[in-house]
Amino acid sequence: MVGLVFDVIIVGAGHGGAAAAIALRQNGFEGSVLVIGRESELPYERPPLSKEYLAKAKPFERLLIRPAAFWGEKDVSFWLSIEVIAVDPAARVLTLNDGRTVSYGKLIWATGGDARKLACSGADLAGIHSIRNRADVDHLAAELDRGSKQVVVIGGGYIGLEAAAVLTKLGCSVVLLEALDRVLARVAGPQLSAFYEAEHRAHGVDLRTGTNVERLIGVDGRVTGVELASGEIIPANIVIVGIGIIPATAAVSAAGAHGDNGVMVDRFCCTSLADIYAIGDCAAFACRYAGGASMRIESVQNANDMAATVARSICGIEQPYDALPWFWSNQYDLKLQTVGLNIGYDHAVLRGRPEERSFSVIYLKDGVIGALDCVNAVKDYVQGRRLIEANAVVDPAKLADVTIPLKAMLA
Ligand SMILES: Cc1cc2nc3c(=O)[nH]c(=O)nc-3n(C[C@H](O)[C@H](O)[C@H](O)COP(=O)(O)OP(=O)(O)OC[C@H]3O[C@@H](n4cnc5c(N)ncnc54)[C@H](O)[C@@H]3O)c2cc1C
Repeated sequence: MVGLVFDVIIVGAGHGGAAAAIALRQNGFEGSVLVIGRESELPYERPPLSKEYLAKAKPFERLLIRPAAFWGEKDVSFWLSIEVIAVDPAARVLTLNDGRTVSYGKLIWATGGDARKLACSGADLAGIHSIRNRADVDHLAAELDRGSKQVVVIGGGYIGLEAAAVLTKLGCSVVLLEALDRVLARVAGPQLSAFYEAEHRAHGVDLRTGTNVERLIGVDGRVTGVELASGEIIPANIVIVGIGIIPATAAVSAAGAHGDNGVMVDRFCCTSLADIYAIGDCAAFACRYAGGASMRIESVQNANDMAATVARSICGIEQPYDALPWFWSNQYDLKLQTVGLNIGYDHAVLRGRPEERSFSVIYLKDGVIGALDCVNAVKDYVQGRRLIEANAVVDPAKLADVTIPLKAMLA
């Protein structure tokens, strides 16, 4: 017996969930909307967690995507600190971790992902942290306040690097360990990796690539060090693990939604189950900017734009998801802006001088511009985006010439 019924239920009160609720109302949807979220907070911005919030430069209230009153005005209901543990797609019923059930007309699965944990021994010791949600950062900040300052960051992706930058500025000693031979290897070209490695070292981070962790060691249940495959032990009282996420799709996958790495969706963000959509970090799709390859994109842009696609679709406006990916990362005084995907590029052009801390790397495939990484180079980012949208083919020598603005290269 099911009590309540909502026209739309959104599972996950994060970026995608909030954006979907907002977009439904913007598109004139008048039905009932419920957002169910596992965390205790109303939707908040996640990117500052490894930047201004960790640095205590922004209070939590300023991270809220909308103030509480907004949701009341828009008649969007929230059930917080509640996890959806099962989906019955035939009966259109969700089971919650408090034993209740609730029915939906349409379901939007927007659950993001869970921080991947280390698989080695010692991974459960106290003092080992992820940076995925507010509680993670509050917990980490409390340990820093108690005087723990010897930090090892495991993982040289954006979150690990951003945390290393903040913690160095907060006076911690930071060792960053990356298993691959360069940082940002999954997302950026070698020129960008080399630049960021040099920046972090210049700021005092002991950054080591090609370095594997054997196990974490501790005393009385608390971490005291990281043992490397080489046998070296690096002392640590805080370890931050930034090795990616696992899409949070257990319930919807168990219900039969297709997809190996996240839930597979079509051009309208529909899953293989009727009236169930998936958006954001947990959704995989055939991405035109990756040559049609199936992939998940972990970015605010992707969560927001997929949410807009679903809201339109529910409101009867069929407009497929086809957004150009973009992303940013802040480390020290460096603002990186990325547009496009550099997957499969065959040529990279350096535009500007990394020594001047303002430059871009432009990625081409068969002569066509596919992506740009712009460091303190906003104009390149804005103008380069138009080159990607235009499928522009430009002479690499021209691209490298900083005296010619990128917008002048549009045919
Ligand atoms: C520290 C950090 C820094 C980042 N920096 C950047 C950046 O600079 N730029 C950028 O573009 N992107 C950045 N990202 C990525 C960006 O935040 C994510 O891509 C975005 O949050 C994805 O939105 P989402 O709605 O898919 O998932 P989320 O925002 O993660 O929201 C998912 C929510 O669903 C909840 N949930 C999960 N399972 C259930 C369930 N079964 N029942 C109920 N609730 C559930 C989760 O607890 C979570 O609150 C960063 C992410 C992190 C963690």
